[in-house]
Amino acid sequence: MAEDWCRHCDRHGRMTLEHIPAKATGNSSPVDLYHELNGQFEKVTREFTSGHALPTLCGDCNNGAQRRGLPDAYTAWHQDVVWHVSTFAAAMHHALGEDPDNVWYLCRPDGRAAVVPMEHGKGLNPTEMMNLHPGRIARQVLSGILAVQNTPYLLRDNPVLTQAYFSDDAASIAPFTLHVALANAGTGYFETGISQGTLNLATGRFDAAQSWILACTPFVFSLVKGEREPFTSTRIEHWFQYSVHETFGKRNRIVEYPIGRPGDLVVDKLYHDLEQLPP
Ligand SMILES: [Zn+2]
Repeated sequence: MAEDWCRHCDRHGRMTLEHIPAKATGNSSPVDLYHELNGQFEKVTREFTSGHALPTLCGDCNNGAQRRGLPDAYTAWHQDVVWHVSTFAAAMHHALGEDPDNVWYLCRPDGRAAVVPMEHGKGLNPTEMMNLHPGRIARQVLSGILAVQNTPYLLRDNPVLTQAYFSDDAASIAPFTLHVALANAGTGYFETGISQGTLNLATGRFDAAQSWILACTPFVFSLVKGEREPFTSTRIEHWFQYSVHETFGKRNRIVEYPIGRPGDLVVDKLYHDLEQLPP
């Protein structure tokens, strides 16, 4: 493996493969990755058998995340979300004949995005006895955003992020906030892993670099410098306030996650970008 700088601890040396998302969440089909440079897309088709893998973490950091249970927590959460969405989509298919693989139509009668509940604790999913751990899930999400950095800006200029990531205690990432939305992007939309920009809510355009967006179907994550999420999403930054050792103390908290719909700005952006992609 090539020598590089570790995206989590900044040490230089031999890197190991970091799987984004966590290996156990799958992604066994061929995935088209698109590298975006100066507005031009370069298509890179790759086949992944156990998640997208990037050689960006040192062995200590990679093994440390596993030891702390971060990928496992993410995987449990991923499975629970997929279960809820599939159940909802199947019900809509039964009632209205909608395509059960299409989550875009999942709107409420008032036009707002439908929501799915996330349970912090055992979960409502009767087929799985989940122990969803919010602190670990949030740390794993941040880990993915940090792991795909091309430049060391986030790591070196914002030590609060890695301090929160490596901490086992309650932590804050202020002035950053972390958000998640559900979105069936239909492609692995990565700018070598990440898209960076500020969404101007007045114009709907991404401008300067104040948010970092990572699409891992069925999720779109955004790390924002500031409070305002770049698209309809749920704030998860407060999940860092759970200690990673507190496994049984805070069960059955429920958060609602909006599901993206065609009118959402992030969906428009993803569709817009898809139209620009080379065949
Ligand atoms: Zn490291």
